[in-house]
Amino acid sequence: MPLRLYNTLTKHIEPFIPGDPSHITFYTCGPTVYDDAHIGNFRSFLAADVLRRWIESPLCDVQAEGGARHRGPRRVTHVMNITDVGHMTDDAEGGESGEDRMSVAGRRLLEAKKAGKLPDNVSVDPSNPYQIAEFYANRFVEDARRLGLKVAIESQQDPTLMPRATQKVAGMIQVIRRLIDRGHAYAVGEPGKQTIYFHVPSFAPYGKLSGNTLDQLAEGKGGRISAANQAQKKHPADFLLWKSDPSHVMKWDSPWGTGYPGWHIECTVMSAERLLLPGAPASGVVKQAAGGVGPALLDALVHLTDQTGIIDLHSGGEDNIFPHHECEIAQSCAAFNTHPEKGTFARMWFHPRFLLVDGEKMSKSKGNFYTPRDLFEKGIEPAAIRFEIIKTHYRSNANFTEQGLKDSQRTVDRWRTFLERADQGARDSSVDPEVGRWFALAMSNDLNIAEAIAEVNKWISRTHEPSLNDGMMMRTFDNVLGVLELSRAATAQTEIGVFRDGLAPDPAVLAKLNERAAARAGKNFKRSDEIRDELAKMGYGIKDIAGGKVEVRRA
Ligand SMILES: [Zn+2]
Repeated sequence: MPLRLYNTLTKHIEPFIPGDPSHITFYTCGPTVYDDAHIGNFRSFLAADVLRRWIESPLCDVQAEGGARHRGPRRVTHVMNITDVGHMTDDAEGGESGEDRMSVAGRRLLEAKKAGKLPDNVSVDPSNPYQIAEFYANRFVEDARRLGLKVAIESQQDPTLMPRATQKVAGMIQVIRRLIDRGHAYAVGEPGKQTIYFHVPSFAPYGKLSGNTLDQLAEGKGGRISAANQAQKKHPADFLLWKSDPSHVMKWDSPWGTGYPGWHIECTVMSAERLLLPGAPASGVVKQAAGGVGPALLDALVHLTDQTGIIDLHSGGEDNIFPHHECEIAQSCAAFNTHPEKGTFARMWFHPRFLLVDGEKMSKSKGNFYTPRDLFEKGIEPAAIRFEIIKTHYRSNANFTEQGLKDSQRTVDRWRTFLERADQGARDSSVDPEVGRWFALAMSNDLNIAEAIAEVNKWISRTHEPSLNDGMMMRTFDNVLGVLELSRAATAQTEIGVFRDGLAPDPAVLAKLNERAAARAGKNFKRSDEIRDELAKMGYGIKDIAGGKVEVRRA
């Protein structure tokens, strides 16, 4: 079955029909880097990563325009931006008030520095917003690579795959100009101190993605917007493209005054530049232009027309649907003329749901707020974290729990053992013909990952003597799920213990293990069981393994 996905734009599960089935273009709205990304952010990024990996898999078929079936080979150019322009904390104000997020981050870093909570090797000046953004952007990319996000791994070779908003302001100014020229945007205020708004009534399909149509918005959506900001707009739904404010922490010169761009415009520029421009590199090593986009690229950007095609896939968290993606569609179609009658510049809109922790919305005040870094520090290995985050269908709320994380670790271990046995197995054995088919069927059915994982588990249970070919099959599945390819957590070995989960060999634990070995040698199994219980109370789980050793994990 060719791949079918739920399209937020049409509200239906439908065949994914790209422009060129051998080369897919995919844009994901990335993180705003004023803090470490949390596991909820990673849920949507990893769901996009699994989708991208599935499209690249030899097991995946895609429907071509005209109905033919495309069986590959296929490559995906996946771009994820980094929002390193601060933007304002009060989103309801449309980016015009509140406090710049980089200032908030600066204060937080300064407090951490004073309290001695910043690690010694961290040199970031809390008063410099560019340094703060750089600091968190680098940490994000590091976390993303550890969790197997392919675009982050590829960006080491090709940095244009993860463009940064601060590098693209020249392009944003160019597109805003074009929107003004075409009657889709207007300036208010005195020359040199102007604010530019996108005029929403100039784009008829506005509201198609989110359901927030103009009449609804006119009736008071965004009612928290201050009277002063609202009064200068032609329509209450009009949104910010440029704000002149020379006192702002991050600022650039523009024809309208020194200030900063609105949030939405950056994705219009970065997606078009990297994915729509004729001659945009599909892959390979590309050097980032030092000054951002060059004049030739800008020229091409403003000459895009409805003949130049649209992006195949666009994703973001469900909170991006409105206003961010609705506004992106309006700007992009209005600026580039890309299929305005369809009201979109992407064929398929993909929005994974939020992640819950212990059944509740994650929040710092509830104490159920995790970043991948918190979990790495606890010694939990990236493969288990990735598995736990991706294992639920992307349109259900994933529920992250400690028990779930343990179960995920067990599954990862089981799969790893299977692969190790398969690699030493028979050469000419055939592979179970069913498993690949069922896996593909599940994944092509709107990315039903829970069912795909269940099929892998059933196959492992019935395959008692895995062969080399089974190992190849497992790798094919893992190229999609991206779990086993991640590095294992450090394992420390002593004469008696194998310490997993990044645990260090604690002398108190070693003493208990030695005592237990002596008790067992003397057939004192009662004492041996007592020691197991004592270790459990100390937070350690043990298991006897080959060679007379004991495996130690977190209980
Ligand atoms: Zn975006």
